[in-house]
Amino acid sequence: MVTTESARAAQRVHRAGPLAAAAMGRALAAAALLAADVKEAFRLEVRLQGGGPLGLVAAEIRQAEGEQWLRVRVDHPEVDLPLRPDGKLAVGQAIGRNGELVVWYEDAGGVRYQSQVPLVSGEIGEDLAHYYWQSVQVPSAVALGVLVGPSGLVAASGGVVVQALPGSEGEVEAVSARFARLAALSQRLNDGESPEDLIRSVLPEPIAWSPREPLRFRCQCSRRRSLSLLKGLPPEELTALIEEQHGAEVVCHYCRRRYRFTEAELRQLQSG
Ligand SMILES: [Zn+2]
Repeated sequence: MVTTESARAAQRVHRAGPLAAAAMGRALAAAALLAADVKEAFRLEVRLQGGGPLGLVAAEIRQAEGEQWLRVRVDHPEVDLPLRPDGKLAVGQAIGRNGELVVWYEDAGGVRYQSQVPLVSGEIGEDLAHYYWQSVQVPSAVALGVLVGPSGLVAASGGVVVQALPGSEGEVEAVSARFARLAALSQRLNDGESPEDLIRSVLPEPIAWSPREPLRFRCQCSRRRSLSLLKGLPPEELTALIEEQHGAEVVCHYCRRRYRFTEAELRQLQSG
């Protein structure tokens, strides 16, 4: 699964530094992998809250009427940490591991599910593999890669998950070990290698491959939704906005768009 374009869009929208861009890119690749098997309408969110300096990192994919929306957020896009001794971005440290990976899902009928596992490393790929094992008991090898170029901008991003069929657990361990030995996934995607080639190079057997349409970064927030958010406020908070601020501004955490509402509009909410 190649997610370079949406990872780039995420970095642009949030004006994120390399570290936050890598964390968001991995989170959205994780969400894309989890969403890949679902055919009908759904909403899926992957949340990582590990107590690290980035704060909450969350990626959401929504699918309805043949269209897909993908968006991602980070509390502190400007956070910067020294590189790890091996020269890689310190994503695990930036996310932290005192917390959980939460997968939230809503199906076509509006039924919601949530499951979570404690974070293992905050590196996201490892945490997602742990999630697959804990929640669905499927041994998996997961590689999520975001390559940040010398300019500090996302150059390539993608994710691969290999899951065991019953009886092939030993094979997944072997694949997992091969992932570790491979040159970084993101570097190979950047070199123009297709995910298909990448998978072929780690698996002993030929596989069937179903290409999927690339996702696009798109937020589903709107002025109307923001207004209904204000409508849901306790009456005294709405009154305070009117009397003290003479208006309100709602900022979307996912796309940073700002919606401004006048005092008159807020008064209409009060009477409606
Ligand atoms: Zn938005």
